[in-house]
Amino acid sequence: MTAELVNVSKTYGRTVALHPTTLHFEAGVVGLLGPNGAGKTTMLRVLSSALAPSTGTVGVAGHAVTGTHAERTAARRRIGYLPQEVVFPRGMTAFGFLDYIAVLKEWADTARRHEEVRRVLDLVGLAERATVKVKALSGGQRRRLAIAQALLGDPALLILDEPTTGLDPEQRASLRGLLSGRPGTVLISTHQTEDVSALCDRVVVLDGGRVRFDGTVPELLATAAGRVHQGPEPSAGAVQTWRTGTGQIRSVGGRPAAGASAVEPTVEDAYLLLRSADVQGAVA
Ligand code: ADP
Repeated sequence: MTAELVNVSKTYGRTVALHPTTLHFEAGVVGLLGPNGAGKTTMLRVLSSALAPSTGTVGVAGHAVTGTHAERTAARRRIGYLPQEVVFPRGMTAFGFLDYIAVLKEWADTARRHEEVRRVLDLVGLAERATVKVKALSGGQRRRLAIAQALLGDPALLILDEPTTGLDPEQRASLRGLLSGRPGTVLISTHQTEDVSALCDRVVVLDGGRVRFDGTVPELLATAAGRVHQGPEPSAGAVQTWRTGTGQIRSVGGRPAAGASAVEPTVEDAYLLLRSADVQGAVA
């Protein structure tokens, strides 16, 4: 096991960002889905050791993040973390920035450190931009530079908070390629349901600070089987309906109208249905 949260919760004043949660993470890519305010960033920050939980224990690669200073340091050496927003020293070059982060990560041997910086620059497709100042990079290039710093040292637990925001489709596809081949655990929070279906071995859906679903992509899709329809008319009481490019109306949930036929659900359909059940449950 690479990482675990045991009875972890986090409260800010009266706001419960995360209710007591227990999750174990093995090797593989885990997608974290949920609406804004669900507690995703809180969970990722707690796992990364950036934020102390209110209750519970956190372990990474056999070390207690919530333990002694020495244990936390040992855990941190095995963690790569991409926060939602990275503030760059804009006057530094791409290489200089990564070199600086690598120094903070205790890479003392200069030759080996430079080799590692070149390796991660190459992984994110920025080898040609190594000597360009951060302020001259495009938004997508800056995002990839931020991803590169999380990859330094090949961490056992790679935590990426919305890594695909600001990337174009080609860059997203190349990031998927990079992540899918990695050993260890990759934990990604995203609003892009296509990223989840294309990449994730496991999906965790958070809402209101609680885990609402935890399973594989096929298991998530199975929750929506027979509940998505396409036809000339919308389904009554559907969660969402829209006219597709073929002029047919696609309905997620609800009672199908005459002439409608069931279609294969997507991760987004399953997510919308799960969310609507939560909202109804909260109202009831
Ligand atoms: P998500 O990443 O899913 O959008 P967050 O983990 O950022 O959710 O937030 C979960 C809840 O905790 C929200 O209600 C948010 O307003 C609250 N929250 C997050 N960070 C803080 C903070 N530093 N102070 C007070 N409340 C916070």
